[in-house]
Amino acid sequence: MSVTATPVPILKDNYAWLLRDSGSGATAIVDPADADPVIEAIEKAGGRLDMILLTHHHADHIAGVDAVRARFGCPVVGAAADMHRLPRLDQAVKEGDTVRLGEGAGTVIDTPGHTRGQINFFFADGAVLLSGDTLFSLGCGRLIEGTAREMYASLRKLAVLPPETLVCCGHEYTESNARFALAVDPDNAALHAFVGKVEQLRAAGQPSVPSVLADELDANPFLTAPDAASFAALRAKKDKF
Ligand code: ZN
Ligand code: FE
Repeated sequence: MSVTATPVPILKDNYAWLLRDSGSGATAIVDPADADPVIEAIEKAGGRLDMILLTHHHADHIAGVDAVRARFGCPVVGAAADMHRLPRLDQAVKEGDTVRLGEGAGTVIDTPGHTRGQINFFFADGAVLLSGDTLFSLGCGRLIEGTAREMYASLRKLAVLPPETLVCCGHEYTESNARFALAVDPDNAALHAFVGKVEQLRAAGQPSVPSVLADELDANPFLTAPDAASFAALRAKKDKF
């Protein structure tokens, strides 16, 4: 019994994530910003939807929520801190809260930085992390509302999750993140191996995600940054890259 996660490509380069608890068949969708492809993916997977999970309030993560909710009549879960700018929430959550998906349980992790109210969900059974626009493969979210110090602290919370954790992020940014990572860390053999795999997947038309946290810890410059000041400098450099 465990939770599995499948990316659903939407919009230009976003991913919604279809979660399924294998024990019960319970299904959830994360960040359904485009209703049609998401509804199609849910129908293909059996037509059951038990829950909508939201990582943050940006339109490219929530725009399809009302249509998906209307179609399946399921509850919507998001950050209590952002209730005023999220679709109507049936469960408003904060750090340490649990969301139930059949026999699976997801823990809410506060990860401010990209936005103030950003949250991630971690399903221990299956080691699935929904990292929204906090942690990307080989990158991290831009500091739109939070400070570098906040984002660094958020990333450190994710870094201590089990190494086998599958990082399910909100965007297909990996190849462009890889160019920056290689520019700042050109001699990192683990990074080169990581990028080789990403290029193969993308050339085959496959998503580059989810990635494995252990690989991110070796290759992602925002996770290998030794302290908040180095992280801040790196993030500023990436903004101009
Ligand atoms: Zn965002
Ligand atoms: Fe986004």
